[in-house]
Amino acid sequence: FDAAEYAKELRSHWTSEGGDASYALLTRAFVLANATTSRIKIVDTLVNFIRALIEGDPSSLLPAVWLATNSISPPYDELELGLGGSAISKALKKIYGLDSQGLKILYDKHGDAGDVAFEAKKRQAFTLVKPKPLKIKGVYQSLMKIAMSKGTGSQETKQRIVERLLQDTRGAEESRYIVRTLVQNLRIGAVKTTMLIALARAFLYSKPAGAEFAVRPQELTRLKKDELAETYNNAEEIVKASYARHPNYNDLVPCLLEIGVTEELLVRCGLALHIPLRPMLGSITRDLSEMLTKLQARDFSCEFKYDGQRAQVHCDEQGKVSIFSRHLELMTEKYPDLVALVPQIRGEGVSSFILEGEVVAVDQQSGDLQPFQVLTNRAKKNVDIGAITVNVCLFSFDLMYLNGEPLLDRSLRERRELLRSLFVEIPNRFTWVKSLDATSADSEAVLDFFKSATDVKCEGIMVKVLDNAAKPTNDTNAEPTEAHEATPKQKSTRRKALLSTYEPDKRLESWLKVKKDYSTSSDTLDLIPVAGWHGQGRKAKWWSPILLAVRNPETGSLEAVTKCMSGFTDKFYQTNTAKYAEGSTNVISRPSYIEYPGSPDVWFHPQEVWEMAFADITLSPTYPAAMGLVSDERGLSLRFPRFLRVREDKSIEEASSSDYLALLWRKQMEKKAAVSSHADDEVD
Ligand code: ATP
Repeated sequence: FDAAEYAKELRSHWTSEGGDASYALLTRAFVLANATTSRIKIVDTLVNFIRALIEGDPSSLLPAVWLATNSISPPYDELELGLGGSAISKALKKIYGLDSQGLKILYDKHGDAGDVAFEAKKRQAFTLVKPKPLKIKGVYQSLMKIAMSKGTGSQETKQRIVERLLQDTRGAEESRYIVRTLVQNLRIGAVKTTMLIALARAFLYSKPAGAEFAVRPQELTRLKKDELAETYNNAEEIVKASYARHPNYNDLVPCLLEIGVTEELLVRCGLALHIPLRPMLGSITRDLSEMLTKLQARDFSCEFKYDGQRAQVHCDEQGKVSIFSRHLELMTEKYPDLVALVPQIRGEGVSSFILEGEVVAVDQQSGDLQPFQVLTNRAKKNVDIGAITVNVCLFSFDLMYLNGEPLLDRSLRERRELLRSLFVEIPNRFTWVKSLDATSADSEAVLDFFKSATDVKCEGIMVKVLDNAAKPTNDTNAEPTEAHEATPKQKSTRRKALLSTYEPDKRLESWLKVKKDYSTSSDTLDLIPVAGWHGQGRKAKWWSPILLAVRNPETGSLEAVTKCMSGFTDKFYQTNTAKYAEGSTNVISRPSYIEYPGSPDVWFHPQEVWEMAFADITLSPTYPAAMGLVSDERGLSLRFPRFLRVREDKSIEEASSSDYLALLWRKQMEKKAAVSSHADDEVD
């Protein structure tokens, strides 16, 4: 892969009519990114593409970034294309002169709408009038128009725009990527982090006219390998940190074009009210003892891990409130009751803030926690505060911003102290997560706390490091030391691993999840992987989730029992995706002997057995496994399925049967009945 050659090639695709970069330029980048699984090459491809725009047509960079990340706006903007599959099919038929039968044949053969468009465009009769080339800006504007058209007649408007786009594509590849963009499945493996890394590196080498370089590109070429890696890493950390605090390319890209990659970016494009930051995440641990080993010599806070919905509450000086979900969607309209609480919880001296907590359905009188299912009964939009049937309580656990000042760099102990001293509890509506401060010496108290959490139906506990400075320790295993071979990236991750600062979008060891599900069921099942879906985000290039089935020895069919996306390593995902590559003999068309009502993206030729752990077995309206054995209308499914290993020693004839699954279900029900009657005895 020769980056310089590629840059030259890109320029040959440049159509500079009116200074606008052509969509062909972007398509070329997509084709190259799609042709490789190497992350480095994908990044290089994007870097060169971005550089070409920075230097040649900076005004196309922002729309190009949206298109390359397969989105049109940040998640909290609520703009959606709102195109059904039928709009695309209709347009494909009309523009490429296909009839329904012809289209169906192509779909059956390729499965992917973009690949169908590619074939159809290739076969299209030669047209005399060559369309004007599509431009990056123009395509993005068309998508915006589709998203913005609302109300009567909007479907027709959207349809017209889609047809126009297909009509104007100049080659089959352009058609493929326009359609993949429209169905929002670009499949080029350029996930969010890839784009941020590419932006950071591109701005190290290129700058728009008038801007300053932080490090001159000539100097970069003189750096030693590890110095260059350090420079890349610093730039990437800045861009990633900015995006984690302020996830909106509409602000990030113009700012980069103006000042390049400098620390200033974090000030200009950092934490801001009414823009959700990406939440800090917890790492999973097997059980309490693993957690205690990991956090040796540290003070930590154990908190109930409530089973509800994460909420980020923003309030400005004027009292305007926004509430965001874990995935940064705006949900202010879902919780008008929380919005109404804000003036009461905001204690004296609090003018503006961003706090975080878990919204849980509760019984208003007793305050008893209700299962997550109860919360799902609440509508997503336009909830009428006068007619609320599902009562909720916000259990707050963090404070990230207060009175105009970001608190991310403060320790958890300090943030928690501010939260609990400046805000006001309202029984059963706004309170703090239940917590216990401990060290690894307090294992019994921690176990009791864990039990008290699971007793009230919490999912387990979250364990968080309280202070930044580690206590001196004689245990050499306690703190990861910086091995001299560590890369700059590893070093930086390690430095942060046990800090108690709030690290947006990071999954570090300073927040650990201990769930009851992983410590309960000791039974495992041997299941057959039968199908997969295209992964999302980081997993876009892999099959994830994967559908698994049990064997029905009576009928010979395989009955789907669960989808799994947990327990796999990246390496495993890679191998699995290569094994079941589209077009290979391991991939088949929908087999009649697999029972499953849904439509996975790919069907595997059943041939192996995987051992799976799970939390428990549930009755399911969707999965047909063991249907008729425990219920006539419902099958059985697994909660929290987790891949353990491939059973090399088993053929699919030896996979778990539907009878065995039903047997485990009965065993589980008996156990549950015994536990609850024992509990009744104690009450008596
Ligand atoms: P993740 O959010 O870590 O990607 P996930 O979506 O699978 O993983 P879980 O493993 O169930 O979620 O755990 C994390 C979630 O637990 C948080 O996103 C938050 O919604 C919830 N939660 C409940 N109680 C707490 C708490 N005390 N502190 C932090 N998060 C909590």
